[in-house]
Amino acid sequence: MSAVLSSAPAQTSVRPQVDGFHLVIDALKLNGINTIFGLPGIPITDLTRMAQAEGMRVISFRHEQHAGNAAAAAGFLTQKPGICLTVSAPGFLNGLTALANATTNCFPMILISGSSEREIVDLQQGDYEEMDQLAIAKTLCKAAYRVLHAQDIGVGIARAIRAALSGRPGGVYLDLPAKLFAQTMDAAAGKASLIKVVDPAPRQIPAPDAVQRALALLKGAKRPLIVLGKGAAYARADADVRALVERSGIPYLPMSMAKGLLPDNHEQSASAARSYVLEQADVVMLVGARLNWLLSHGKGKTWGAPNPKQFIQIDIAPTEIDSNVAIAAPLIGDIGSCVAALLAGMGANWAKPAAEWTDSIAERKDKNLSKMAATLALNPSPMNFHSALGAIREVVKARPDAIVVNEGANTLDFTRSIVDMYEPRKRLDVGTWGIMGIGMGFAVAAAVTTGKPVIAIEGDSAFGFSGMEVETICRYNLPVCVIVFNNNGVYRGTDINASGGADVAPTVFVKGARYDKMMEAFGGVGVNATTPKELTLALNEAIASGRPTLINAVIDETAGTESGRITSLNPQSAAKKK
Ligand code: ADP
Repeated sequence: MSAVLSSAPAQTSVRPQVDGFHLVIDALKLNGINTIFGLPGIPITDLTRMAQAEGMRVISFRHEQHAGNAAAAAGFLTQKPGICLTVSAPGFLNGLTALANATTNCFPMILISGSSEREIVDLQQGDYEEMDQLAIAKTLCKAAYRVLHAQDIGVGIARAIRAALSGRPGGVYLDLPAKLFAQTMDAAAGKASLIKVVDPAPRQIPAPDAVQRALALLKGAKRPLIVLGKGAAYARADADVRALVERSGIPYLPMSMAKGLLPDNHEQSASAARSYVLEQADVVMLVGARLNWLLSHGKGKTWGAPNPKQFIQIDIAPTEIDSNVAIAAPLIGDIGSCVAALLAGMGANWAKPAAEWTDSIAERKDKNLSKMAATLALNPSPMNFHSALGAIREVVKARPDAIVVNEGANTLDFTRSIVDMYEPRKRLDVGTWGIMGIGMGFAVAAAVTTGKPVIAIEGDSAFGFSGMEVETICRYNLPVCVIVFNNNGVYRGTDINASGGADVAPTVFVKGARYDKMMEAFGGVGVNATTPKELTLALNEAIASGRPTLINAVIDETAGTESGRITSLNPQSAAKKK
């Protein structure tokens, strides 16, 4: 225990005391949590200092949202809740966006915010940064708790960890009023009050009849398909997931953050024939993937309607089943246990899908892949998305251990389909909401938790949301190379102001901006790259040196489409379609 405030001086009757600050630190450490992402300020400044003094890694950000995003990504990468620490009211609200996003993505994190005093907040008497934070957080995360007494800190942290990790992972809010930190109690009693959480994410074994139902459906399928989602990546059942795909011989589609669970150049990957397999498959097995907008809700033209489809869904959350369409064979449990049960039930003589199905997929894949190879081989000037990503694709192939962070509109869509991933959990992106702003937070977390090189591929608009965190990257000297795809604007840089007025169009940025200078301002390396060759050189150099680097990749400002691949979600386009 680290936290003895006063060891007995002259009178032996004075027992050592511990304060709330140290009880929080000790409770986290006791549970193997050694990193805090946060932003110091009243009332948690001393908590950050003391945590560092007690050997925790404290990564300070420039804005709480990015600290929160870092905590969320750390949770996804480590299966331990990432911790984000903020001040009250505005700091809390900034962190809350990340907490809600983590919950939506099923990433475990805990947002710990200092808060004003209950007595004043509840009577609305106008305290410094007064806000009823607990009430606000409750609706936006999986669970929310407040601790008022030092002796309850152990319970509060234990409950937060268990809520974040068990079942479907998610975000938890922990409200710690300023007064709590200064409370003291007997050190021995304090130590005894802490809880080391036993089995925080218990295995959930699927029911044998549910396994048999799923296997029977799969066996009868003529054109089966497996869809791997980020739940499967999170679950870390990598060897069994791969065995399931390979022993069944079933073609699979990885959702974007499940890329690399099996290498993208695996012969059973159907990514290059995505539309075809979604349309044609008769039985689809979802492994840690939800039938939300990213999968067109499991219905409609994308899914070959009116062709009938049957779904098997492996998920830890029973209420996810039937969320969009009927699920014929739900398999509820943790992915590791479910996949192991399927493998055991398949036996050695499982009949692989008919060649008619797999050959027809291979044919389409070959066609689409050669089309893509031809596009990537072009070398237009200025660069476009394809030529720049063609260069990055080769670097990632040579460094499959590097983590790719990716956000933007066109930059996101093109990267996802062009840059292959080869290892699990090496791709972090905009996730379930399809948001922007995760870039630098995710990049910092990836570097801090893995120590591997990080390549953040960013649209110029997306980068703007978290760009100031390049200072954080430089301050901690992290091996992060940010590549800004600079086409002078949101989607494109060519929009014009329809009124003819002096202001540029809402989607246009400063032309020819030099984002690389931002990294130089903080002592990192900045490179302006105008050709794929320059881009390759700079990226290889960044990976070799491990120095914080920002490459301003100059992209043709006419390249890019409105909203990337989700143009149809713009109200005007949606109305036209009706
Ligand atoms: P994607 O966006 O890649 O399609 P989603 O985030 O939509 O993935 O889906 C992930 C799903 O995985 C969620 O429904 C979640 O409940 C589930 N999940 C997360 N962890 C596990 C686990 N360990 N075992 C089983 N299911 C899990």
